[in-house]
Amino acid sequence: MKWVDKEPDIKATPLSRGLDGVSALAAIEVLCSSIHRPYVFMPDKVKQSVMSHILKNNTESGGLLLGEVISTDSLKNGIVGIKVTEAIPSNDFDATSVSLSMGPEVWSSARLHSSESNFVIGWYHSHPNLGAFFSGTDRKTQAEFFNQEYHVGLVIDPIRNEECWFLGKDSKPIPEIYILGLPVG
Ligand SMILES: [Zn+2]
Repeated sequence: MKWVDKEPDIKATPLSRGLDGVSALAAIEVLCSSIHRPYVFMPDKVKQSVMSHILKNNTESGGLLLGEVISTDSLKNGIVGIKVTEAIPSNDFDATSVSLSMGPEVWSSARLHSSESNFVIGWYHSHPNLGAFFSGTDRKTQAEFFNQEYHVGLVIDPIRNEECWFLGKDSKPIPEIYILGLPVG
């Protein structure tokens, strides 16, 4: 299925609010080094829900990621961080076809959970025992559906315990040090 919906009116989350829950030291580091690339904040509870979803399947599975884009300016300029807030699992995921196929329910569910400052910021899927990397199909999916500066792609191999993140339309790898977990609470 193709996502042809017009993008809703979405906007960046200001720094003052976006770095809530991040320790002062980490916040300083984020501000200093986000000049090169944005940080990704992945709360532990979202990671857990992603893991519990993909561990239920022996085959590739995935879904959408909702989140906030933390910026000093706009969604295109001055992106400091991308804070994942929720994972929406797809019950009907097929990554083997030429383009990404997720059941329509995942898109409508994402829409229901979206707001002006919390929206689809990417997608995740699993590569059980294949290693965590972006295949040619994954790159195409990223370029076609997740091509904004703030769009991330997460791939996890739950068996080999590997994970990789990619950013934007060219699927630029995001180094591990730019992924920050946020403890529960
Ligand atoms: Zn893949």
